[in-house]
Amino acid sequence: MVILLSAFYLLAVMHAGPSAAQDWHSAQRARMVAGIASLARETSGATGRPTLSEAVMTAMGTVPRHRFVPAPLEVFAYKNQPLPIGEGQTISQPFLVALMTDLLDPKPGDTVLEVGTGSGYQAAVLASLVAKVYTIEILEPLARRATHLLEELGYRNVELRIGDGYNGWPEAAPFDSIVVTAAPADVPKQLVYQLKPGGRMVIPASGSSDWQYLLLVEKQSDGTVTMKRTLPVRFVPLKRDRSAK
Ligand code: SAH
Repeated sequence: MVILLSAFYLLAVMHAGPSAAQDWHSAQRARMVAGIASLARETSGATGRPTLSEAVMTAMGTVPRHRFVPAPLEVFAYKNQPLPIGEGQTISQPFLVALMTDLLDPKPGDTVLEVGTGSGYQAAVLASLVAKVYTIEILEPLARRATHLLEELGYRNVELRIGDGYNGWPEAAPFDSIVVTAAPADVPKQLVYQLKPGGRMVIPASGSSDWQYLLLVEKQSDGTVTMKRTLPVRFVPLKRDRSAK
């Protein structure tokens, strides 16, 4: 019922003109950010992050998530839930995007790799926080859509490649941080290798066949690697391109 009312309200504000729709979306985004803040507090026992950085919260409050979901689902864009984006894939729930971004400790000068572009939303959030985002998507139709959307929305610091991201992006390595948004069976060694000393990777792995732990992998300045389990999560599987090297 609440959803139906929001749908009617959205239709009404869209009818009232673009600035009314914009106000509606920014009010929805503000509510989403408040929801993220309370989920962060509730899950801090597992994540160690009762509050997320102001920069990450600002990015979450700015990036227009409704543009990254299929038009008929726009009304759900600011609910804390994953949504289908076609090709059997999903855009992650906003809280997880915020948490994963925060765990990377993004800094303005950073170069970040994302494996699993999907809708392009996580890439857009990162692009508003760091200097350069490299992102890889294995499914061509999603990659094409994300490329056009990121361009249209003016994210000029994102470079997208179509392919299997299991082996990272060696030519652009090393990275300050890496985020993987699909679940491999194990943490890919090549990705760890492509982290700078002091770098961080967030990746869903090492659970069972249908859920994973969100892992924080840290490469220390002496090259040793530590892994911390945070929340149990459920991501789509990381596919492998068997023809790739
Ligand atoms: N970060 C995305 C969520 C993506 S869902 C967003 O913000 O919308 C995971 C994505 O990973 C899917 O689009 C899927 O096609 C992609 N994927 C799966 N295996 C992959 C691989 N080996 N390399 C690159 N992308 C992969």
